[in-house]
Amino acid sequence: MIIPSHITQNVSLANKNWFCTGGSARWYSEPQTIQECSEAIVWAHTNNIPLFFLGLGANTLVSDDGFDGLVIKIGIKTITIQEDADTVFVTAGAGTTIEELIQYSLAHNAIGLEEFSGIPGTVGGSVFINIHYFEFFIARFLTEAQIIHTFDGSMRTVDKEWFNFGYDYTTLHTQPYAVISATFALKKCTAIESAYAAGRAYEIIRHRTHRYPSVYTCGSFFKNFDEQEVPFLTNGKKITAVAYYLDKLGLKGTLSHGGASVSTKHANMIVSSPSATTADIITVARTMQKAVYEAYGLLPQSECRFLGFDKNPLMHV
Ligand SMILES: Cc1cc2nc3c(=O)[nH]c(=O)nc-3n(C[C@H](O)[C@H](O)[C@H](O)COP(=O)(O)OP(=O)(O)OC[C@H]3O[C@@H](n4cnc5c(N)ncnc54)[C@H](O)[C@@H]3O)c2cc1C
Repeated sequence: MIIPSHITQNVSLANKNWFCTGGSARWYSEPQTIQECSEAIVWAHTNNIPLFFLGLGANTLVSDDGFDGLVIKIGIKTITIQEDADTVFVTAGAGTTIEELIQYSLAHNAIGLEEFSGIPGTVGGSVFINIHYFEFFIARFLTEAQIIHTFDGSMRTVDKEWFNFGYDYTTLHTQPYAVISATFALKKCTAIESAYAAGRAYEIIRHRTHRYPSVYTCGSFFKNFDEQEVPFLTNGKKITAVAYYLDKLGLKGTLSHGGASVSTKHANMIVSSPSATTADIITVARTMQKAVYEAYGLLPQSECRFLGFDKNPLMHV
């Protein structure tokens, strides 16, 4: 088998995810161009090698045994803009971080994305999960994207409807495609409005730092429940926030196993430490699931994605 020069072997993933745990990737590539990305995909498909697209690893838990496949971390970070009378269309490569995208947009008097300030991740990973903060979802801004087929490396451009965006859901969860770039429609503004938006970005980060852990975590570990899943009312309404139930059970800042624990700041966030293993994190996560299930009959499902496991390591329905 002829291995493309940008594919390397046995690369540690512990420094490529926000829990800082997990083993190595058997194969690893950081393509800088569409051609390299396509080449890596075709090589993996031809040789029957499983594939995983990794961004910043801010929402990914890597198995302690690593991944016997090819990890592709798209390095394409090109950003371009087009404008009409009221709108600035910003197109960013999948490897661009959300922070880079926000800063670029503000510098070009284009606002909207600053609502996602402080969320670590790449454009690719953030479109995949449809990142959200309070009422803002990234789907609100996306107009189209370039995607690549993960068997044959062919490219196509799709519009927002193709993604079928939902809460923690896009078509990318079920179809063999990865994001190469995405275009966001932002409000054109004056330099003064942009400065206000930069201030709001700063305020959001300050607020987040106060409320959430900002390192050694993947953010919210579990998804919130659907309203239909919650069969009972609490104080006259259905509470869908999984953190509410975990908090009620007193797990915040108390439950721990090995080097992993439930954050002292937020009941739905697991934090690791330099001594943590992925197995520790899974033990904590399963204990959280079991506690909520036994007390309320609701089984939290993970928002965090898994890499290198034969099957979902959590309890599932
Ligand atoms: C401190 C902290 C706070 C957070 N706060 C929030 C928050 O407020 N709101 C929120 O929504 N999330 C939050 N998260 C979760 C995380 O930031 C987002 O899910 C983010 O989008 C992850 O991006 P990533 O590039 O790191 O994705 P990764 O973790 O690398 O990957 C996540 C998923 O995306 C897929 N993926 C990656 N790149 C591509 C691509 N190019 N094409 C197709 N699929 C791809 C991966 O295969 C994987 O399934 C937080 C995480 C942390 C660590």
